[in-house]
Amino acid sequence: MAEALSYDDESEDSEDNIFSDEEIKQYFRVDLMYMERVKEWPNKTILHYVLTVNNLKTHTSFSNKLFNSSKKHAEENLLEDLKEIFDGLEKNPLEELEGAFKALSLTKKNKVMKMELEITMNYSPCKECADNIKSYINEIEKDFDIHVIIRFGSFYLLYPKDDKNKHIEGLAQLQNAEIILYLVWDLNWLKKRIKKLEIGSKKERKKRKKKDRKYMELVSKKALKLLKKTRNSLHKNVASKTAKSSETT
Ligand SMILES: [Zn+2]
Repeated sequence: MAEALSYDDESEDSEDNIFSDEEIKQYFRVDLMYMERVKEWPNKTILHYVLTVNNLKTHTSFSNKLFNSSKKHAEENLLEDLKEIFDGLEKNPLEELEGAFKALSLTKKNKVMKMELEITMNYSPCKECADNIKSYINEIEKDFDIHVIIRFGSFYLLYPKDDKNKHIEGLAQLQNAEIILYLVWDLNWLKKRIKKLEIGSKKERKKRKKKDRKYMELVSKKALKLLKKTRNSLHKNVASKTAKSSETT
């Protein structure tokens, strides 16, 4: 359940303040190599999201910070929050959410409103969560123009030698669905914070970032393969339909 949905009008979440110094130290470890010093890896997932709704006059955003529990991954909590926002707004608009409700309901089905969902988390989504995020976004896209960005610090349960890692496959599917994936190390504000907090040595950080970029390339390669596969099957479908129609004429 959503703990607290904040509602800001005409204000923007400052990215620098998404996570406290303590949270950066605890969750965003860029000095650890995969499959090494296993006990030092964060055993919890931290996730922050901002859903921004823009039109010409208003700028409304919903944001929350979520964690995993023993039963649920943080992403499952995110989907619950999103469902609460989208369903709740339609069913019983709260007084303080009236502006957002109006904005959402007015544009439903005509996609005038641009929405952006920015998710920042320490671990990448697992395969199951990636599948669930993808299908929920597909659902939203039927009514709204939504742009999704997922930034993460470490690849979830990544076994370096296994190219067929299912979680990598899940990320490729997200990328294939035009969801933008980013490594948090490429964010200037986080780079600065990590440097300031002196998490790990510069050498270790460099080594880890290199590995992460390599895995990101693997994700993109797999996403490209998926795209080609979809295109091929589309071509085949068109070809078989053309063949069928020429048979009947
Ligand atoms: Zn998950």
